[in-house]
Parts: sequence; C-alpha cells; structure tokens
Amino acid sequence: MKATGLLRQGARIAGRLLKARATGGRIPIQAWLFVTNRCNGSCFYCFTRPYAKEFKDQSTQCMEEIIDELAGMGTVHFIVIGGEPMLRQDIGELIRFIRRRGGIVELRTNGFLIPEKIDEIRDVDSVCVSLDGDEAANDASRGKGSYAKAMRGITAAIEGGLNVHLHGVVTRYNVRNLEYLPRLARDLGVHMTYNNTVIQGGERDWYMSDEEIRRFYRDYRALKEKGYPILTNLSAIDYVIRWPYPYRRIFYRNEMEEVRRSGLHLCNIPRYTINVSADGYVYPCGPMFGKFGRNLREGGLRRAWEYIGECPCITCSDIGCVYNSMAFSFNPRRLLEAFGVALKNYVGGRCPAQSASPDSSRSDAPR
Ligand code: SF4
Ligand code: SF4
Repeated sequence: MKATGLLRQGARIAGRLLKARATGGRIPIQAWLFVTNRCNGSCFYCFTRPYAKEFKDQSTQCMEEIIDELAGMGTVHFIVIGGEPMLRQDIGELIRFIRRRGGIVELRTNGFLIPEKIDEIRDVDSVCVSLDGDEAANDASRGKGSYAKAMRGITAAIEGGLNVHLHGVVTRYNVRNLEYLPRLARDLGVHMTYNNTVIQGGERDWYMSDEEIRRFYRDYRALKEKGYPILTNLSAIDYVIRWPYPYRRIFYRNEMEEVRRSGLHLCNIPRYTINVSADGYVYPCGPMFGKFGRNLREGGLRRAWEYIGECPCITCSDIGCVYNSMAFSFNPRRLLEAFGVALKNYVGGRCPAQSASPDSSRSDAPR
C-alpha cells in the first residue's frame, strides 16, 4: 500500500470512529477472520488446531458473504488468520475479494507455504509470520523443522516485495532469548511484535508467572528503547508494565468502581472489533474465545455482532487488545501512534516521528 492509500484508509477509520462516537453506536472497524482451523504446524500452545477435525471450513461463497456483510457494516481492516490460512485453496480469491470491497488485508501465517503460494497473496497489505525465536526455541514451541520452513517463507515474502512483520509468542520456555527476534527483524529490514497468551484461560505449564510477565514487558520495552524495529507502541507496553493486578485477571461490569479508582483503561474492543471463528462463532476478542460469543448461524452476523456488544468484561491486560483499544479511543496522540505503526506495517516505511527520534541515531542503537 502507498502512503496516500494508508492516509485514505486512516481517514475512513477516523470517520467511522467519529460516527460511532457521535451516535453512541458500534462499528466493527477491525475484523479477525479465522478462515480455517486446519494447520500444517504443531505449536504446543495452539488453541484453534485442536478443533480442525470437528469443523469443516466454510465454503468460498460463505466466506465472501461474511466479508461482504462485514464491509457493509463498516469493517475496514481485515486480519485473515487460522489455523493456517494459506492451506485454503481459495486464499488468493478471498484476499482479492476483501481488496475489492475496499479493505486493508493483513495475513497471519506460519509462513510454510509462502514460497509455493506467493502469487496468491501478492494483494495483501501486510503478512505477519509467526516465529518464536532462534531455531532451538522456535522448534521447541512450534515443532521440529518449523524454523527452517518459516525462514524460507519469510525470505520468499521479503524477496517478493511484501510488507513483512514477525510475531513471536512468548512463553516460559522461550523468554530467555528475547533479543533474537528483534535483531533478526532489524537485520531483515522488517518489523516485529511479541505477545503472551496467559489470558486465553486454563492452566498450562508454559504460562509465565506475573513476575516473569512483568520482567518480559520491561525487557521488551528496553529492546524498543534500544531502537529495534518493534511495532508495539510504548503507551501499550508501559500500561501493561504498570498493570497493578494479576495478569490473568479480567474485570467485569460489577467491578467498574474499582477499575475507575485504579485508573485503568476501559476496553472498547467490543465496540470496534469482531472475531469470526472458523466454525462461525462471533467473539469480541481472542481472550473471549469460547467464553462469550454467538454463532452467526443463530440469526446471522449482525445479530451475533449485537450480542457481543453485551460482553460483560470491561478491561484486561492483553497487550494486543490494549494497543487496539487505545488506538480506538480517539485520543489524537494515540491515533497518531497507531498511524505510525500502520505506516511501518502496511507501507513498509519508517514513520516520520520515528525517523526524527533520537533512537535511530543513538550510539547504543543495536548493530
Ligand atoms: S501455526 Fe498457528 S494454527 Fe498452526 S499450530 Fe501453530 S498456533 Fe496453531
Ligand atoms: S476486556 Fe476487552 S480485550 Fe479484554 S477480554 Fe474483555 S473484551 Fe476482550
């Protein structure tokens, strides 16, 4: 995407935010489309692949109807995810359909199929490839041989001229070598992000303790301060570093007073974000998967969207959601930050603010 295209899309998003604020309404500006549960990977922390056998993928026509309806409801930003979305034979068709409906498309993939199918994904605005660290760390989390396959994909995507972004999931097992991925991103001339998934729920031996999570966020911040090409903005990182409760805690409406007293950000994800799972369930966000949603087969997409507007939670510490929620808060500073991130992610350039920042010329900038 060219910078002018991004400006145009930014204006569309701002217009929808303004309209929603003026009318007190909700608009699903950002849609996460889980186009399949199937996957050719084997990450031990996966929460979608275990359902691959239970549900068949929706047909191309059905997916296009969903995309069409979302675009009609105001969606501008489509994140195509799975499972492994590139396993779908029609992935190129779906991407092109979103583009024809005027959407920005971000593809989230493990990268294994990029070399073979790069022509199918040329129309994406950004491709996010999962990689959890160096070969040993990545293969321990994502399966033997996955590092080599992901790197082939990343190389093909970069050589193919796509905007690439690396994304790592941090667990107790790979948190020690946090610098590897930002350094690799810098060496490849791309950007990166990290997250952890403790809010997904359940008990897992790979979850980090609160102390480990806070240390991880502090280290993440330090890496960003050193000038590595990290997309997550400092406001979101600082917010989760200061989060004063257990990281797995989600607050609900009956706790509003405590949330206000603690000065926590009120989540507006259910006002502007929709997740459509491969089996047709509609949720407000990742942490609410399996907890608060409705299937679009029970009365259609719009009805499911209305339903998730009643989501009873009001704030949590999921860094991806915090970042998005802050961007949607219509605070001029936050909007500018979000635009800077989008510029790096979708246009591939450095945002003007970053070019002017002392980071890029610091003598301790990583080499
Ligand atoms: S690549 Fe994604 S969908 Fe596939 S196993 Fe890993 S986490 Fe699950
Ligand atoms: S507070 Fe917001 S991001 Fe967190 S679980 Fe609830 S809806 Fe999702």
